[in-house]
Amino acid sequence: MFSYTSIKEYHSFLATNPDGCLLAVKHYLAAIEEKKHLNAFLEVFADEALQRATDLDKQRNDGLPLGRLHGVVVSLKDVICYKGHVVTAASKILDKFESVYSATAVERLLAEGAIIIGRNNCDEFAMGSSSENSAFGIVKNAADTERVPGGSSGGSAVAVQADLTMISLGSDTGGSVRQPADFCGIIGMKPTYGRISRYGLIAYASSFDQIGIFGKNLTDVAIALEVMSGEDNFDSTASPKPVEQYAAHATKEPSGKRIAYFKQVLDHPGIDPEIKVATENYIQTLKAKGFIVDAINFDWLDYIVPTYYILTTAEASSNLSRFDGVRYGHRHTEGIDDLNEMYKQSRSKGFGKEVQRRILLGSFVLSAGYFDAYFTKAQQVRRLLSDNTTKIFQEYDAIISPTVPSPAFKLGEKSDDSVAMYLADIYTVYANLVGIPAISLPLFKHSNGMPFGLQLMTNHFDEELLFALSNSFIAANE
Ligand code: GLN
Repeated sequence: MFSYTSIKEYHSFLATNPDGCLLAVKHYLAAIEEKKHLNAFLEVFADEALQRATDLDKQRNDGLPLGRLHGVVVSLKDVICYKGHVVTAASKILDKFESVYSATAVERLLAEGAIIIGRNNCDEFAMGSSSENSAFGIVKNAADTERVPGGSSGGSAVAVQADLTMISLGSDTGGSVRQPADFCGIIGMKPTYGRISRYGLIAYASSFDQIGIFGKNLTDVAIALEVMSGEDNFDSTASPKPVEQYAAHATKEPSGKRIAYFKQVLDHPGIDPEIKVATENYIQTLKAKGFIVDAINFDWLDYIVPTYYILTTAEASSNLSRFDGVRYGHRHTEGIDDLNEMYKQSRSKGFGKEVQRRILLGSFVLSAGYFDAYFTKAQQVRRLLSDNTTKIFQEYDAIISPTVPSPAFKLGEKSDDSVAMYLADIYTVYANLVGIPAISLPLFKHSNGMPFGLQLMTNHFDEELLFALSNSFIAANE
C-alpha cells in the first residue's frame, strides 16, 4: 500500500520502485473517489495523471535527469490556469471555460516533474472564508464533516488534509491559504507579494493576491516555493530578487529570535478563550527556548478588516468587469435583444450572491461621491500600516498571532451574516495589506476536537527566516 510523508521519502521510495509514480497516482485517484463527499475536487484529471506518471516512471527508469518535484502529485485551486483544462473560479459565469495558457507557477511545477491531478473547489472567485460560496457545492472539513474547511481555498486544504494529494496550491488575498490550513490542521503558506508570479491566477484583488502552498510538512512547502518563485516577464509585479534556499532553511536554526505579537490581537473580544490560552502558553514555551517575545501595541486592529474589504472590493469590481458574457463563459441571451440587457442578465445569472455583493460594494467605494471617504481613506490606512510594519521589523525578526480567532465553525453558521464571516479574517488580512510573507503552522488542538494554528510573519522577502523559525516553532511544540 502506498503512503506519503514527504517529497524526500517519496523520492527514496521511487528509487527502488520502478512503477512508483503510477502507484502514487492510483492511490490518490482511489482516495479522491472514496472521499468524494468532501467535494474537494471539481475535476480529476485521471487519465492524464496516469499517463504522466507512466512517462515519469520511464524517465527515471531510463536514468534521465529528474526534476525537484519528480512525480510529486499536486492539485490546483480552481482559480489557477492550466492550459487545455477547464478553470471556472467555482463560478457559473466561467462554466466550461478552458484555459488557453498555463499560469507561470504551473509551468514551473511541470518543468520540475510534478503531476497535476485535478482542480480544487473553492469560494467563487476566491471570495469567502468557508468554501460555502462555490457554485458547485460546499466543501466539507475532513476532520468533522459538519464543519467548514475554511476558505476560500477550502478544496485545496481538504485535498492535503484528507490525503488526496501530496501538496496543493491555493490563492491568498486576505488569508485564503492560511485560514483553511488552520481549520484543517495542515501547513499553509503565503509568500511575499511578488515572490510568485500571478500570471495565470484569476485576479480577485491584484495588489493583494498571491499563490500560496498547502502541505503536510515544511520542507515540501519550501521546495514548492523555490520551484515557483522568481521573476516573470508576464507579471511585472513578480520580483527579480534571487530565489533563496528555502528548503535548506526549513531545517536550519533561525538567524533571528526577536518575536513580537500584537497585544490587541490576544485581547480581542472575539477570540476563542482556548485559542487565547494556547497562544499565551506557547509564548511562554518560546521564551523558555530562548526566544525574545514581546507584546507590542497595534492600535489599528478594528480598521484592518474594513480597510481590506474596501480595497479588495474596489479592485474586484474592476477585475471582474471583464466577465461580461462576451469575452468569457456564460452568456445569457434568452429573450434579450439589447446589448446592455445581455450584460446585465449574464452577470446577474452568472455571478453568485457574494460576488455580486462585492462588485456592488467595490463600485460604491469607487464612485465619485464616495471615493475620498472610502477608497482614499483606506489607501491611507494601508500606507500607515506599511510604515508601521517597517518600524516593527527594525526591532523584531517576526510577528506571531493566532491564525484565526475561532476554530472551524459549523456549516451554515455564518453564511447569512457577512460581517461575522468577514471578521474571521481579522488576523490574516494584515499580511496581505502590507505584502509580507506568512505561514500557518498546525500546532494546537481545541477541546472540540478541531485543530488550530499559529501564524508567523516575517519581513518582505524574508522567507528563509520564515521557514527557519517555523522549523524551530514546530520543534518547540513537540
Ligand atoms: N476571506 C477573505 C475574503 O473573502 C480572503 C479571501 C482570499 O484570501 N482569497 O476576501
